[in-house]
Amino acid sequence: MSTAPDGLLDILAKARRIVAFTGAGMSTESGVPDFRSPGSPWMANKPIPFDAFVSSAAARREAWRRKFTMDDLYRDAQPAEGHRALASLHRAGRLAGLITQNIDGLHQAAGLPPEDVVEIHGNGTYATCLECSHRHELAPIRAHFEAHGHAPACDACGGLVKSATISFGQRMPAGAMARAVELARSCDLFLVAGSSLVVYPAAELPVLARQNGATLVIINREPTPLDDLADHVWRGEIGSIFRQIDAG
Ligand code: NAD
Repeated sequence: MSTAPDGLLDILAKARRIVAFTGAGMSTESGVPDFRSPGSPWMANKPIPFDAFVSSAAARREAWRRKFTMDDLYRDAQPAEGHRALASLHRAGRLAGLITQNIDGLHQAAGLPPEDVVEIHGNGTYATCLECSHRHELAPIRAHFEAHGHAPACDACGGLVKSATISFGQRMPAGAMARAVELARSCDLFLVAGSSLVVYPAAELPVLARQNGATLVIINREPTPLDDLADHVWRGEIGSIFRQIDAG
């Protein structure tokens, strides 16, 4: 197990098919707090579980209030070094795909084509109808919420409109999960960055990749439960570790 970043460029150079897997730690250098680090505003504004959202108007109100509170904290976030490095790896034709647990759209903002970003926990920059999947933009929802104290129903079918993220207790998006599994199975290097690897089923993907013969690399500030399974673990700040890739 490597403990220094020196060999990362070599590992990348040897790989034929690289897949990246990112978590909230990827975006902390953009000013978007992660979920579990101390003092996280996500703890004070915890996402409302899916069942409560569906069954209770009061829970929906609170969900939207927390959502807009969090949006105000990180609306202006811009891609950081890690996002840019992965985008440059993709531009160089070296990144087959990227699976992210993040909902902030910052990989796409860094230049990764949306079709190569698999968002297994959805996307918080817009909303969708839970009935007909029609897309809704957040600005008109917010204006309605601030005027009436609740979000509007879907104008296409009257269904409940919810942020396009996957809440606790909500079914994982089947298409995105199938693509993520396919990417994990078909790569020879699975590069994890900025995830505590405690959220399931997302954390099964590195295991799947490793079982299918891929080299598993984990880059994270803190230990993760999968470090022992990994071929290489770098503990440190994503920006300083990924800087080599941008230069490489
Ligand atoms: P997590 O909060 O559980 O873990 C993040 C990990 O990143 C932690 O282990 C932390 O030590 C590490 N980290 C933080 N900043 C780092 C840095 N600069 N360099 C290296 N490591 C760093 O996040 P998770 O594993 O993604 O799971 C949390 C869930 O919350 C996910 O499902 C995700 O959808 C959601 N979430 C998303 C965002 C986002 O979109 N930016 C933010 C918070 C939470």
